[in-house]
Amino acid sequence: MNGAFLAAGLGGAAGVGFSLRFSWWRPRRPGTPVLMYHQVGPHRPGSALNRWRVPEKDFLWQLDALARRGYRGIALRDLLDTPSAQTRRAVLTFDDGYRGALERALPALLSHGFSATVFVVADKTGGVNDWDAETPGEPLLSADEIRTLHAAGVEIGSHGATHRPLTGLSGDELHREVAGSRDTLERLLGAPVTSFCYPYGDFDDRVVEAARAAGYRAATVIRGGISPDLSDPFRLKRVSVRGTNTRLDFTLALTRGRSRL
Ligand SMILES: [Zn+2]
Repeated sequence: MNGAFLAAGLGGAAGVGFSLRFSWWRPRRPGTPVLMYHQVGPHRPGSALNRWRVPEKDFLWQLDALARRGYRGIALRDLLDTPSAQTRRAVLTFDDGYRGALERALPALLSHGFSATVFVVADKTGGVNDWDAETPGEPLLSADEIRTLHAAGVEIGSHGATHRPLTGLSGDELHREVAGSRDTLERLLGAPVTSFCYPYGDFDDRVVEAARAAGYRAATVIRGGISPDLSDPFRLKRVSVRGTNTRLDFTLALTRGRSRL
């Protein structure tokens, strides 16, 4: 008897829905989960983007849950530096570089002794997420705020220069987005930038090669799941943590690599 039928026997149609939704019968995944966050902050009434806004109290609960289960939150570079570790770990990533990463996520990370990687859009510092169709936009980290995060031990990665999808770009444009954004951020920080995140999860073999050639060590995609190892560091899967997730969603995403759609 598989899990779906067992659930059906226990809970009827609701049980099937439950089991399909969470895939809870799937075995625990090997590898280190890479969690994908965007904004940590309150929902906006009626906004379609609320799935990317994790309220602060939920974020705190999630960090507590990680700690309770023996996980340490780390930056992507930490995973590259020490691929295997004695302790359970979860890489925490924040896309787009919202100010909430400094104002709300950082204090919670520090109080748990965790680190993280924040992927910023290099030419949009101090601006807003004008690539999303919502007014007013969410404030993005300024150059000084990015330096503050870096000084606090948070890894700064690149999310491109302008948050454009990369696969349709000319060679020059692709170079500007991938290598150019790295140069911009390294000048801003005075330190190496080695992690990249494909905007919209849009990549192909040519984009991967551009990231490798630009000097990055790893790049993350949006494809859900947990990469079992680091054999393909430029296509690292992630598990999305959404503002609409329940506590059970979070726990199963962490251990099973499943994101609720
Ligand atoms: Zn993004």
